Amino acid sequence: MTEIFKKSGFVYLIGAGPGDPGLITVKGRDCIGRADVILYDYLANEHLLTHAAPHAELIYAGKVGGAHNREQWQINELLVEKALEGKVVARLKGGDPFVFGRGGEECETLVAAGIPFEIVPGVTAGIGAAAYAGIPLTHRDFTTSVAFVTGHENPAKDASDIDWERLSLGSGTVVFYMGIRNLRVIAENLVAHGRPPETPVALIRWGTRPEQEVLVGTLADIAEKAHKAAFKAPAITVVGNVVTLREKLRWFDNRPLFGRGIMVTRAADQAGSFSSLLAGYGAQVFECPTIRIVPPESFAELDAAIGALQSFSWLVFTSFNAVASFFTRLDDLGLDSRAIGPCRICAVGPKTAAALSAHGIKADLVPADYKAEGVVEAFGALDMKGKRVFFPKADRAREVIPTELQKMGVEVTAPVAYLNVVPEALPAAALQALEERRIHCITFTSSSTVQNLAAMLGENRLLKLLEGVTVASIGPVTSKTCREMGLPVDIEPPSYTLEALTGEIVRHFAQPTIKA
Ligand code: SAH
Repeated sequence: MTEIFKKSGFVYLIGAGPGDPGLITVKGRDCIGRADVILYDYLANEHLLTHAAPHAELIYAGKVGGAHNREQWQINELLVEKALEGKVVARLKGGDPFVFGRGGEECETLVAAGIPFEIVPGVTAGIGAAAYAGIPLTHRDFTTSVAFVTGHENPAKDASDIDWERLSLGSGTVVFYMGIRNLRVIAENLVAHGRPPETPVALIRWGTRPEQEVLVGTLADIAEKAHKAAFKAPAITVVGNVVTLREKLRWFDNRPLFGRGIMVTRAADQAGSFSSLLAGYGAQVFECPTIRIVPPESFAELDAAIGALQSFSWLVFTSFNAVASFFTRLDDLGLDSRAIGPCRICAVGPKTAAALSAHGIKADLVPADYKAEGVVEAFGALDMKGKRVFFPKADRAREVIPTELQKMGVEVTAPVAYLNVVPEALPAAALQALEERRIHCITFTSSSTVQNLAAMLGENRLLKLLEGVTVASIGPVTSKTCREMGLPVDIEPPSYTLEALTGEIVRHFAQPTIKA
């Protein structure tokens, strides 16, 4: 076997699913990771490419509504060519490769060229989009059958191959792919061959994605409605009484943040959990990291303090990053958490405390107020006179903690443990969304996220791009920075956590659902 692979490579024909990147199969995802070359499609979510190996060559094989980037024969040739170079090729196709995907033709070419392949099925758009629209394609009370039909036959054919009569009789659900341009003809044919004109129809565009749009009508009026709404491909058309179930079963496109573009400005390594929280409420999240955490130019001060750890009574961590950089440095020095010894630990915020507990350490003090002022207040209640405090901090941290503690007679050592640097540019997708006004809410989770975004865009441009965009800030300090910048703050949660911020954003946008 391996001999054969060496000579001829291998092709995986993978169904990417309908759009939601979570809807690829486990096997499909694994195969993407194994590929040297990935040939992907317009309908395959580009997010799936994040599973690619770093060395993989990514080739867009296009096709946007007939304006083909590459002709099918060119794609076939490319598959063969890459495989013959001995490469493992992943051919990633939207939905399922064998459902209106020309996967059959691609396989025939591979067979002819003697190239071994495997097919990894996917969730086809008919199934995926219907599910995310809340429409069960079959239901015992409505229908016992479902048909998948192309609404766009090969234009070279003289007469339709679709058996309209059979499709129209009975109560079977019919799902048309590629049917939007021919919608009027489809609806007329079904009615002419016996489907009642009042039969419900749903059009589902970009099903399973945050951009999903659904338009509901009947065979009699759907073409007109679609025309009026300028409803465009890619969409599937579901015909049948099961469509009425959507009213009861709708679950995806009525979530409170559905259809809202929300920008997350946290550092890339911290954005994930916030983004998932927001996405869980249906938001379309655009990550735009405004902070990159890098080591300090010199470790001298930090190392000196670490060397004298036994002389401190308290160690104060005010962020996840402080914990991460402190422990990374301990590790680099060949030490571990035992180096902390009897020194007591103060953690600001539950995330910081959680980061510590990952190192087996329980914080002795977690101030109720998750800010520098909270630390000062908590220490104010203790007898701190003459005590030594070790506070590994960010380069641009506020001076509140050292200054106020010193006033209490505390000796504070605050070496820089990490630097916040400003990334050069916004990710293209985030910038484009801002420019196209697809961002409805921007979130700031620290003053630096505000300042850095202004530095990245320029203050004037920032204000211009954020005109009319809801500003959500994690707390008063961040809000103050926003206001100083000329950005009015619309949302600020009562407690300074991502969960509370998410809750307030949901509340802000909660409104009766508008779309059909
Ligand atoms: N192999 C694909 C179908 C390719 S044909 C599959 O199994 O899903 C292209 C057609 O698929 C589009 O014109 C549209 O009708 C449908 N389609 C693909 N993705 C879709 C989506 N996310 N939402 C709605 N329709 C989709």
